[in-house]
Amino acid sequence: RFITLEGIEGCGKSTQSTMLAEYLGQRGLRVTRTKEPGGTRIGTEIRKVLLNADHVEMTATCEALLYLADRAQHHGELIVPALAGGVWVVCDRYHDSTLAYQGAARALDADDLNHVFHMATGSLQPHLTLLLDLDVRTGLTRAKSRNEEEGASLSEGRLEAEDVLFHQSVRDSFLQFARMQPERFAVIDADGSPQEVFRRIRETVDRHFGL
Ligand code: C5P
Repeated sequence: RFITLEGIEGCGKSTQSTMLAEYLGQRGLRVTRTKEPGGTRIGTEIRKVLLNADHVEMTATCEALLYLADRAQHHGELIVPALAGGVWVVCDRYHDSTLAYQGAARALDADDLNHVFHMATGSLQPHLTLLLDLDVRTGLTRAKSRNEEEGASLSEGRLEAEDVLFHQSVRDSFLQFARMQPERFAVIDADGSPQEVFRRIRETVDRHFGL
């Protein structure tokens, strides 16, 4: 089974994906927790290029193709072999992020992105996508206070108000995708303690897969 977690920065994806992978392991399932960009060695290199890029310098198309190049490697090297071996894959971000960030927020054509997605993965879709939905200001405040090794996020350098607008558009896109594909998406209220949010995720996952 293939589960993805999506949402804006600071919504708690990495904490929750770690908790979910642990939980599935406790239920006796074999599970791999991974993330995009950067789930493979080559992906880690691509992630560095993306996170160090100045967005005035890097074109939106170049950026999108790097995310999709990372996805192609991740798909071939990790996701497909894991699923083929009966291992559950819990992945922090996947193609919905590309459609929301590069498609909606940076105005690239969704059909173009989906063509390259097809080339990268054969259009492999998750069985379940958990959308961790959170107010943009709450998310950005959490993300900014987080003392990340990587330091700068892609949004550094933009004005606060611009940041909020950009991420609002990302959030709205995710919510729109969830409304369009209700059988694949579950919208999780990401406001609350990690334990509270995880309780919501666990109930959803148990119900979805009949665990
Ligand atoms: O959530 P994570 O730390 O993996 O995201 C790293 C950065 O990449 C964030 O600033 C996020 O907004 C950005 N991102 C993006 N387009 C994507 C995926 C992530 O701009 N498709």
